[in-house]
Amino acid sequence: MNFAFDPVVLSAAAVALRAEVRAFLRDELDNTTPAERRVNSWSVFDAAFTRKLARRGWIGMTWPKRYGGAERSALERYVLLEELLAAGAPVGAHWIADRQSGPALLRYGSEAQRERYLPAITNGECFFCIGMSEPNAGSDLASVRTRGVRAADGWHITGQKVWTTHAQQAHMMIALVRTANVEGVAPKAPAAPAPQGGASVLGRPGDGPKRHEGLTQFLVDMKTPGITVRPIPDLAGEVHFNEVFFDDVLVPHDMLLGQEGQGWQQCTSELSLERSGPERYLSSHALFVELLRAAGAAPASETLNQTIGRMTAEIWTLRQMSLSVAGQLADGRDPAVEAAVVKDLGNGFEQELPRRAQAVADSTLALEDDTPLARALALLLQTSPSFSLRGGTREILRGIIARGLGLR
Ligand SMILES: Cc1cc2nc3c(=O)[nH]c(=O)nc-3n(C[C@H](O)[C@H](O)[C@H](O)COP(=O)(O)OP(=O)(O)OC[C@H]3O[C@@H](n4cnc5c(N)ncnc54)[C@H](O)[C@@H]3O)c2cc1C
Repeated sequence: MNFAFDPVVLSAAAVALRAEVRAFLRDELDNTTPAERRVNSWSVFDAAFTRKLARRGWIGMTWPKRYGGAERSALERYVLLEELLAAGAPVGAHWIADRQSGPALLRYGSEAQRERYLPAITNGECFFCIGMSEPNAGSDLASVRTRGVRAADGWHITGQKVWTTHAQQAHMMIALVRTANVEGVAPKAPAAPAPQGGASVLGRPGDGPKRHEGLTQFLVDMKTPGITVRPIPDLAGEVHFNEVFFDDVLVPHDMLLGQEGQGWQQCTSELSLERSGPERYLSSHALFVELLRAAGAAPASETLNQTIGRMTAEIWTLRQMSLSVAGQLADGRDPAVEAAVVKDLGNGFEQELPRRAQAVADSTLALEDDTPLARALALLLQTSPSFSLRGGTREILRGIIARGLGLR
């Protein structure tokens, strides 16, 4: 197998939409949004901004009209995302629901689940979080041990999730839960959630395919009694992700998503959507814009010129590759290897950008402390290490690429 990054030509509708989105963002962001809020902006939670996008039909815009969508094309959605990210718009509130929870509901949800949640998402009224990772189940997701036990009144869920982005604000979680005992994963439910967390080590990579069985996804209302959300401040002191404890949480039977025991397969298709978008190389873009602003129309030094030129070429190449993945998805293909390549290269680029910008700014721009460039840098230098962890680590992506190429 080889890579295929076929070029994509955007439709007239997508080009027109780009102009419309730019005009909207010029009015809404108006250069008054501080630079430190425009970097990594797909983590910035702003429900009011989300509702403005909802009024334009820009959430769930590819979904069927009967569920509140606009039936626009996947490439039009791609253009919208590019413009939102490049401008540093605060899109964190609806990002997960728009990107993967809504599509998961469309693919696996019952009619009642779709009717209940999809219009609420497109109206900007219902936010989702992802309940996959646990203290000992990150890369090795099949080690999930949060347990669901079926009873007459519904499923009783006990266990712990971790790194759950926006769990403190989300209305709903799609949780991956172990509903059947399988070889290699402890048969007992974990004890009631310990405030300090820390389940013991379970399942190992060599445990065999059975570990991927017996997993089920549930739609969990975050207000259900028995759920405790505990924020985890990041290095910059901000709170995006959380620990979530489940203490005998009752989830009604009709909130099981898809099929019992098919959680692994359902999650895997969700992860392709999670990994393939332009957010995987644009998280630091607002910093690049600030560097251009600080450099001015005629950068003072050759080093600065060269750095900006090199970064521009890299952004453009990543952009063409990412757009190609979007085009393949729109054609109904499954470019899992190409998506992993774009995420791996994109994360490398967006992680390096703050360090390269700092080096060139220090040596050529005499960087002052309280400038937009300095503030954006300060935030990104602390948060960018996480870019190659969230959504799947570098090593895991490279494993997927190697397998796709027949190398392992
Ligand atoms: C900002 C951020 C937001 C997140 N949001 C969410 C969220 O909303 N919901 C959610 O469910 N999760 C979320 N996560 C969790 C994320 O998916 C995990 O951090 C990630 O999958 C890695 O898992 P881990 O942290 O347990 O690290 P581990 O899996 O323990 O990995 C530690 C290191 O070992 C390496 N490693 C592991 N296994 C292998 C292997 N087989 N071969 C080679 N190297 C290996 C990894 O690459 C990594 O470098 C978030 C993480 C971050 C940083």
